[in-house]
Amino acid sequence: MLLIYPPAARSTEPPLGIARLAGFLNRNGVPTRSLDLCQEGLDYLLGLELDARDTWTRGALRRRGRNLALLRASAAYATRDRYRRAVRDLNRALKAASEPFGVEAGLADYRDARRSPLRRADLLDAAAAYEDNVFSPLFRARIAEALAAFPTQAIGLSVNFLSQALCAFAIVGFVKTVRPDLCVVLGGSLITSWVAQGCLAPDECFGGLVDALLPGRGEEGILELLGAPRCASTAPPDFSDLVALDYCAPTRILPYNFSTGCPWKRCSFCPETAEGSRYVGTRVGTAVQEVGALVARHAPGLLHFTDTEIAPLYLRALAASPPGVPWYGFARFSPLLTDPDFCRRLAASGCAMLQLGLESADQRVLDALGKGTRLDQIDRALRNLAEARIGVFLYVLFGTPAEHREAARRTRDFVAARADRIDFINVALFNLPVASAEAPRLETRAFYDGDLSLYRDFAHPSGWNRDAVRAFVADEFDADPAIKAILARNPPVFTSNHAPFFLLATKSDGARAGNRNSGDTILDSSFGVAGGIRWRHGANRPGGGARDSASHHPTGESAAFPASGLRAGQGALPP
Ligand code: SF4
Repeated sequence: MLLIYPPAARSTEPPLGIARLAGFLNRNGVPTRSLDLCQEGLDYLLGLELDARDTWTRGALRRRGRNLALLRASAAYATRDRYRRAVRDLNRALKAASEPFGVEAGLADYRDARRSPLRRADLLDAAAAYEDNVFSPLFRARIAEALAAFPTQAIGLSVNFLSQALCAFAIVGFVKTVRPDLCVVLGGSLITSWVAQGCLAPDECFGGLVDALLPGRGEEGILELLGAPRCASTAPPDFSDLVALDYCAPTRILPYNFSTGCPWKRCSFCPETAEGSRYVGTRVGTAVQEVGALVARHAPGLLHFTDTEIAPLYLRALAASPPGVPWYGFARFSPLLTDPDFCRRLAASGCAMLQLGLESADQRVLDALGKGTRLDQIDRALRNLAEARIGVFLYVLFGTPAEHREAARRTRDFVAARADRIDFINVALFNLPVASAEAPRLETRAFYDGDLSLYRDFAHPSGWNRDAVRAFVADEFDADPAIKAILARNPPVFTSNHAPFFLLATKSDGARAGNRNSGDTILDSSFGVAGGIRWRHGANRPGGGARDSASHHPTGESAAFPASGLRAGQGALPP
């Protein structure tokens, strides 16, 4: 089976979804080939010969090779201004390359002025007009090559972000034109959400373009679809066809997930709850063995655990059996983190950064949301993590049905008072999942003119409506001096994917400037990882010295409503 990760999304590590499917299929005797056209697409656009009309674009085009190299070297993560300039320039160069096609491609986005990924008819149109797609020369050549070298009867596309949907359908349009005999399967987080929230019927075939949708864990249905016997029920991801690609990161990042779904799944605002996705976890012993084998085989410099939440049993396993490489991922503010000794052991296991969902600092709001966290415990966890020197990427959410202005101010005050324990912050405005249990109780309206929208606007029960929330975020939250300083540290565009590198590399003018001495490096001996991070260029760490991170909800639709620091290309609804 040919597995394809389509353009366009942030590209800092091999795509785990197709690597998981490749591992599972190979172990069950079904050969696979994987194509990461997202990363290849980025290199393709940045390699085009282009003319520019204005000075900035000419400069951005001239500097694109140097800027790409910069993001792939350790030095960029020691100097935030250089990093920001490189990211801004690269987005400008991508815009210049994609503009002639009537689209705007970026490092984490893809916008088509004529088509919306939220309209089924536009997806079909993207498939029919595949020759007009900005990536068309690339995917036609690469897929033709792959099919010539690797005869197969099936192609699977993993579609995780809205920014990938139009390109995925262009690829499907091409495949069904040149090889109508091939079975085309669509899976990935976006497809899962569309089916789970009722936007797409499970047997939707897009007028015959698609032979099957595989929502949820692709492993569950793929063998049956292919008519292959099931010999093994689990397998580690197989990155063989992907690790050689030059991703936008200063070291090799290897993604791994201990589980799919959320073990808590009770937060009323969260698509995980609305979609009722099943939680499936790998046996701890198996997971530890798989991570160890992947580290031994691929020598990554950073592990990215992509679970919606790294459940406490896996955190305990990591603390007990360190993977030998720095790592980061999402966790909940569970009672486990109120134990300072455990946080120290977590740090010693290589934990560089945890992504944690505060959402609100009003206990009544947290209780109404079903978050299951307590502010006194969150306070202790933040203190313990700071003392253990584990970076914190905090997620806050404004405008939920239970919130009002005074509750939002309590969140602001809570965060500001603990700014010295928070390295990065993601601020999101609440979007109501269409399948949310709360939706029937609220007066709702469409955000867009599109039949595939996963979210709806709603009339807030106490008048705390979107405009008021947005103004509060801009005027009161973002403007708070302590919070402003945290927001200034957020890596633009790449956000949490690059944040660990700033923690691992920079000096005290970066993360947690308030409580570190000048010249002090952030992690190091606290790390317990021999030699710290394996940068891929130059010395072990910039600036001398040897030391050293579905969301989880995928779609990116919420990125159309940026508050401050909202992650482009990712959902606004972290754990
Ligand atoms: S917000 Fe996080 S913890 Fe809550 S249901 Fe969603 S994924 Fe689970």
